[in-house]
Amino acid sequence: MIERAARVGVDHLLITGSSIASTRIAIDLVRKNPERFRCTAGVHPHHASDLDAAAMTELRTLARAPEVVAVGECGLDYFRNLSPRQAQLDAFRRQLELAADTRKPVFLHERDAHDDFLALLREFRPQLVGGVAHCFTAGPAEARAYLELDLYVGITGWICDERRGQNLREAVRHIPIDRLLIETDAPYLLPRDLKPSPKNRRNEPMYLPHILDAIAQARGESPAHLGAATIRNTAALFGWPQTP
Ligand SMILES: [Zn+2]
Repeated sequence: MIERAARVGVDHLLITGSSIASTRIAIDLVRKNPERFRCTAGVHPHHASDLDAAAMTELRTLARAPEVVAVGECGLDYFRNLSPRQAQLDAFRRQLELAADTRKPVFLHERDAHDDFLALLREFRPQLVGGVAHCFTAGPAEARAYLELDLYVGITGWICDERRGQNLREAVRHIPIDRLLIETDAPYLLPRDLKPSPKNRRNEPMYLPHILDAIAQARGESPAHLGAATIRNTAALFGWPQTP
């Protein structure tokens, strides 16, 4: 998978930690391949109920590791409510505090929780060094709210979906080029217009150039120009990979 990605020019991968266990695995992976990997340390809102005092103590230690360039993914997900809302709000607040303490940016997840999410972010924004609204799938108004908070907006292969991606194709036209990040969200969110479509339905980093092309087309820019900008933005937010 790593080699397939490298063959199409995707040679640095940011691995998402979404629970204590997956963050530990992510840090181990970075240690095995420090040239090409970094990771995040966080507890996804689906797992918010697991973030008890002991888990939070461990997360504080993990987040300080040099392999970790961001706190998250963290946030609120009221679409599936796999953890109760109050547990999600508590876990999100604690991770925003952790991001402020560690001076690392936040890697943010939000679904169907826009108002509560923005309220907490507004409260913490002055203490945060930065952040990205990861896997952004909404429209221009929601994008504007994140831009007003001086956050980056992460765009996935959702934009390749002819029907569901319509709102997003409109929104990306309004995002300044110095606020855009691109991501796969692999193994999820396989772009729906890949030809041929992989039989196992698994998304992989090697599809990132395909997503770049779709975003560039929606914005009327060249993929080369947009790609260079998103690499600069990645370096500016995460401090990695360092630009020459
Ligand atoms: Zn997510």
